[in-house]
Amino acid sequence: MGSEGHTLSMLFFPLMAQGHMLPMLDMAKLFAMRGVEATVLTTPGNAPLVRPFLDRANAGPVARPMRLRLVPFPSGTGLPEGCENLSSIPAREMPSLRVEFFRAVSRLREPFGWVLGDLLPDCVVTDMFLPWTQDVAAGLGIPRLVFHGTSFFSLCVAESLHRHRPLETLPAEAETLVIPGLPHRVEMLRSQIPNPPEEARELFDQVRESESKSYGVVVNSFYELEPDYARHYREVVGRRAWHIGPVALCNRDDDADKSARGYEAAIGRDDCLRWLDSKGAGSVLYVCFGSMSDFGAAQLREMALGLEACGHPFVWAVRSDGDEWVPEGFEERVRGRGLIIRGWAPQILILNHPSVGGFVTHCGWNSSLEGVSAGLPLVTWPLFAEQFFNERLIVDVLRIGVSVGVKEYAMKPEERRVVDAATIRNAAEAVMGSGEEAQERRRRARELGETARRAVGKGGSSYKDMSNLIEELMEKKKKNAVQAQTPLTI
Ligand code: UDP
Repeated sequence: MGSEGHTLSMLFFPLMAQGHMLPMLDMAKLFAMRGVEATVLTTPGNAPLVRPFLDRANAGPVARPMRLRLVPFPSGTGLPEGCENLSSIPAREMPSLRVEFFRAVSRLREPFGWVLGDLLPDCVVTDMFLPWTQDVAAGLGIPRLVFHGTSFFSLCVAESLHRHRPLETLPAEAETLVIPGLPHRVEMLRSQIPNPPEEARELFDQVRESESKSYGVVVNSFYELEPDYARHYREVVGRRAWHIGPVALCNRDDDADKSARGYEAAIGRDDCLRWLDSKGAGSVLYVCFGSMSDFGAAQLREMALGLEACGHPFVWAVRSDGDEWVPEGFEERVRGRGLIIRGWAPQILILNHPSVGGFVTHCGWNSSLEGVSAGLPLVTWPLFAEQFFNERLIVDVLRIGVSVGVKEYAMKPEERRVVDAATIRNAAEAVMGSGEEAQERRRRARELGETARRAVGKGGSSYKDMSNLIEELMEKKKKNAVQAQTPLTI
């Protein structure tokens, strides 16, 4: 099919997981707002997560309607019936089912090729975890951009660990290591470094190889947030990269866009706003651990007691079906002061409400950046993936966070050491308190939030880098068209 001469067409293919789909949808919307013909590719089970987003965008700010294409999710996988999204796998089953999930997803290679051959877009943006999309796109001469969904900082840390392999020469008794060759001294515990199992390593090798062959990388970040790492990634790691974030800020003008993201929220927008409106400016602590993390009863109980003890109003998104963790009398004691959301929270709506003054986060990159964009100081509580890297950026480099002090990378809730209520209370107090240090941290966070909004505004650093990318792709498209028309001379 292909697009008309003056219009750029792009296909966006996110990994089916909330933390990857949400930013890629925002990204597609941003491109569509700039006149790009944007199509999103997913599977039928994920269509209910995408369609409402596209409908809202198409009724609002986009310059060209965004489209949806579906390919059937492979059948006969080892996954539970109907499971087409990584975020619907409980964390405790994640390590084994994740492998099944990626195996199933790789079977989308052929249907992806059919869609690509039919649409012939000028460019595809696909998730890092879909490395096989590189060869399919290259086979059709279509440039592929990779989307990792994380910070420049953590991309640089991961590359350093891969290139320099510091763990291999680290003395057995050493508990910490300094990540080699980075612009800052970044020190981490050995126990916080991801150690993927053999099956996952193979996937990571494919990711790395496909990335080196790709046209470049789009990063959901802004230059002013991590300038040293934006440069390091381009100049030392050697990737062509465009920073175009924070992409979630494309939802900033509309409460409906802010509240309807991903799953249906477990609280109505008006109820949530009414509760937040009743609290003082900057007084509320928001607690949420992303779309995939859950905790055992012992940890939830300590969290409840910690939040109760810190004395501030709080909104807490809890992913737990049972009640066994609820301390006796807890709900009565915090009634009016604590809002417990059992399930999916309208996170962006909450973070951007003036009564919210701090955010306890697992340091998933979307949540981290959403906290930064809202100008909030953070309590950092990483669990797995690259979350410990993001924690170092937030705490040591940006100095807008206080760590709750998790020492070990652990995917399964039962493998984690319980953080006690007093430690949680202290970290929350450090962020929400009125001391000089807390005020300075708050000031830095507020400034970063303002810079983030400027970055995506007209003429801002991310706005400009997106323009650079669009112009470059347009040039490429024109050259291809000229080449196609030039007769062969013998
Ligand atoms: N999110 C949300 N409500 C929730 C939990 C998560 O809206 O109750 C959104 C959050 O705003 C973010 C994404 O889901 O955009 C989670 O991505 P992140 O990278 O923070 O963490 P992950 O889920 O990938 O671990």
